[in-house]
Amino acid sequence: MSRWTLPPDRIPSAWFNVVPHLPTPPQPPLHPGTREPVVPEDLAPLFPTALIEQEVSAEPWIDVPGEVLDILRLWRPTPLVRATRLEKALGTPARIYFKDESLSPSGSHKTNTAVAQAFYNAREGTTRLTTETGAGQWGTALSFAAAQFDLDLKVYMVRASYGQKPYRRIAIETWGGEVVPSPVDEPDHPGSLGSAISDAVRDCVGRSDTHYALGSVLNHVLLHQTMIGLEAKEQLALAGERLPDVVIAPCGGGSNLGGIAFPFVPDSGVRLLAVEPLSCPTLTQGRYDYDFGDTAGLTPLMPMYTLGHDFVPPSIHAGGLRYHGDSPLVSSLVKDERMEAVAYPQGKVFEAAIQFARTEGKIPAPECGHAIAATVDEALAAKETGEEKVILFNYCGHGFLDLAAYDDYTNGRLDEMG
Ligand SMILES: *Cc1c(COP(=O)(O)O)cnc(C)c1O
Repeated sequence: MSRWTLPPDRIPSAWFNVVPHLPTPPQPPLHPGTREPVVPEDLAPLFPTALIEQEVSAEPWIDVPGEVLDILRLWRPTPLVRATRLEKALGTPARIYFKDESLSPSGSHKTNTAVAQAFYNAREGTTRLTTETGAGQWGTALSFAAAQFDLDLKVYMVRASYGQKPYRRIAIETWGGEVVPSPVDEPDHPGSLGSAISDAVRDCVGRSDTHYALGSVLNHVLLHQTMIGLEAKEQLALAGERLPDVVIAPCGGGSNLGGIAFPFVPDSGVRLLAVEPLSCPTLTQGRYDYDFGDTAGLTPLMPMYTLGHDFVPPSIHAGGLRYHGDSPLVSSLVKDERMEAVAYPQGKVFEAAIQFARTEGKIPAPECGHAIAATVDEALAAKETGEEKVILFNYCGHGFLDLAAYDDYTNGRLDEMG
């Protein structure tokens, strides 16, 4: 057998909080004006109380509300698949498993937190959400989730993607969200995730019926994603497999990585590997410091690896990995050497993504291609040494709305910068 599913009633009923397992206790975010530690009241204009509590929680487990589980069951538990055809093509003794998060309604892991965030906002009486989106994955996930709870949604989409990648904009609108290009006040600027966050936060703080939702980076977002790793752990046991030697995921803001990797943090023999683009090398070349989450400096200062909040990454195809900063939880694990990080250029990513498509059949999102490139290298290293390594990676999204990127690669138009 090479595919393990769990029945719908085996979906995890609590999220895993990594905070009690961190080698160093987390440092607090700082208020952008006073530079004093942020207090919950500072965040109240942006987020519902339940999410603020999760943001600062040190409880080891946090219950998932039944209403959230009911929606997640539309596609969860997601299957764990053994990539035997890829193993064979590589001639590796390694056993390669992936967790298929591409099966969610919006096609990526982001729907896991979108549903939880929409639920808590609706429960506390919010009727409208604002957010930003880069390539559109987060916007689509939140638009689907907002529709489940009758919330209005306004999405500030990075202008370059708004023009070049219409399909996710159309998906957002299909689920009922409104989309505008960002930055709103500079119509000639291609935009960045940092400036789109500024637009969405400004809109939110100006209205009492509105909250803001972020698709990555924050502790509560990574918490919601731990469903991925919890299910994977159970499915590996179901497959009669031991704990993986290495868990691999791409890292933009850190949410799908945290989601699959955090439940393995207490397992000391398991290596955790973040994969980022060489053109936006936050963990591998950034500095560990307090920095803003957005370009305009409206968000709290967070302790994280950062390339600087005014860094505008080159326009690579893995749009979801173009962010100047990283999750404080992921950053802290990398700083304490509990997690490793590597960076790959675009060409190598597409080469691996295409090998995966031709062997396993699935066409991955370019973001996901980063994890596949690192998986291939780990598997080839195992071939050198003859080690029966167990590799688990996160198949965080499909690439059906990214086919133009494959066209660019195949026809030699890939930006050398990446
Ligand atoms: C958004 C996205 C990412 C990057 O975000 P993380 O928060 O780092 O997970 C990676 N892969 C896919 C498919 C995405 O949609």
